[in-house]
Amino acid sequence: MKIIVQVAIVVLFKIIFFKNVIITADKLITDELKSTLSMRTLYLEDGYLQEFDATVEWANSDGIILDRTAFYPQSGGQPSDTGFLLKDEQEFDVLRVEAPGLAHIVDRMGLGEGDSVHGIIDWGRRYRLMRSHTACHILSAVIFQETGAKITGNQIDLTRSRIDFSLELFDKTKIAEYVDRANEIINEDHRVGTAVLPKAEALIIPDLVRLAMDLPDREEIRVVDVEGVDAQACGGTHVRSTIEVGGIRLIKSENKGKANRRVYFELVDGD
Ligand SMILES: [Zn+2]
Repeated sequence: MKIIVQVAIVVLFKIIFFKNVIITADKLITDELKSTLSMRTLYLEDGYLQEFDATVEWANSDGIILDRTAFYPQSGGQPSDTGFLLKDEQEFDVLRVEAPGLAHIVDRMGLGEGDSVHGIIDWGRRYRLMRSHTACHILSAVIFQETGAKITGNQIDLTRSRIDFSLELFDKTKIAEYVDRANEIINEDHRVGTAVLPKAEALIIPDLVRLAMDLPDREEIRVVDVEGVDAQACGGTHVRSTIEVGGIRLIKSENKGKANRRVYFELVDGD
């Protein structure tokens, strides 16, 4: 009984603490604060940037905001980067970065406004997520091109990723064939490029938005182009060429009722 009470207290503490961090970190980025910040999203300029120097623009016990960052925030189905912020000899663990305010959630207090820091992202983790994310584009493109299915969601992860799509027919044999075709494209070594286009120009691209939702209400749209395969509006990080994905393996496909289908896949190597 005593153990149960202790476990309950620990769980309750974690829920309260975790919830507090999330809620406060979301709330702390007020519109007024946003207008005074000029965060440069280095991960959009160079997805291969692993280290960077930055200045702390704002800090409290719930989050750190930098003037520039290479840490990708949790968004668009891609998990947040993790890593470190170094201030002189002190090391702060970056547990995650939250969108839209780009609050870096660190493991302890000690950073303040004006501090110079050196950021180092966990590159093994990020590169794996970039490979999986690019694989998502390729497999989604094949599913869309073969069936016309709209993509209703995706979740990229280190061990397995998933794509949800809307399709009346559900044929597991066909889905295995789509994965085979995605692997052919991966091996064909297509360049993956990004461009920021005026919205009107981006809208000319056929099938730009495969997701079953509208384009974001922005003046400019970031377009990720798997050359000769597919162009999509996307704010995530990707590898430079499909060959870097290596290959994917179908884990399983599921019928989620009505026309909702789900495919799980993983990268073929174990690194
Ligand atoms: Zn993407």
